[in-house]
Amino acid sequence: MTSVINQFLTRVLQTLRSIVRSNRFLAMTTLSGLTALLLVVSQTWVGATGNTWQNASFPVENFQAYTSAFGYRSSPYGGGSRQFHRGLDMAAPEGSYIRNWWAGKVVEVSDNSACGTSVVIESGQWEHIYCHMQGHVERDASGRLYVIDRGGGIQIWEGQTVPAGSRIGRIGMTGRTTGPHLHWGLKYGGQWVDPALVLRAMYAQQGTASNPQISSR
Ligand SMILES: [Zn+2]
Repeated sequence: MTSVINQFLTRVLQTLRSIVRSNRFLAMTTLSGLTALLLVVSQTWVGATGNTWQNASFPVENFQAYTSAFGYRSSPYGGGSRQFHRGLDMAAPEGSYIRNWWAGKVVEVSDNSACGTSVVIESGQWEHIYCHMQGHVERDASGRLYVIDRGGGIQIWEGQTVPAGSRIGRIGMTGRTTGPHLHWGLKYGGQWVDPALVLRAMYAQQGTASNPQISSR
């Protein structure tokens, strides 16, 4: 069942990629539709396999507000340019802990881009990206990279597995940002997905739609 759905998703994504190449505007419209479709499919998949997001975690402690949604926006740095925001911004006081959304493996740590000190975690077909964290990247004697945030007692190694809900960093101001927040990006099968839709689906499963602090423990 799972492989049938995965094959279907792969075909949908291939079609989408060809549309993206041929028409950028149409592609954006199609992208929102596809994201909704992906959620329907993933919920079907959940129903078919019994695998759920029941244990998935809201990614921020002390959450205050969603400050920038996924999609086109005018540049927060002025200049009147429009850009596509590939994630959801979640404000929280500096130093608040960031929690891993879903169990997976750390596939990248970095501190030299606009994303700031960041980790990328892979959970099956999903990739979740956490930006602007406190701390920085170091390399051990064997060349293995890790994020170190001594003040927060955090050390995250590239290649390590992380359970859902575990603390993987703290809200900071590294990279390109105008205030303390988590920029949370999500990809499914290599395509950016609106994290708000995923959170909504997750709340629906967990039956806690009114409370974003579902996983504080
Ligand atoms: Zn952002």
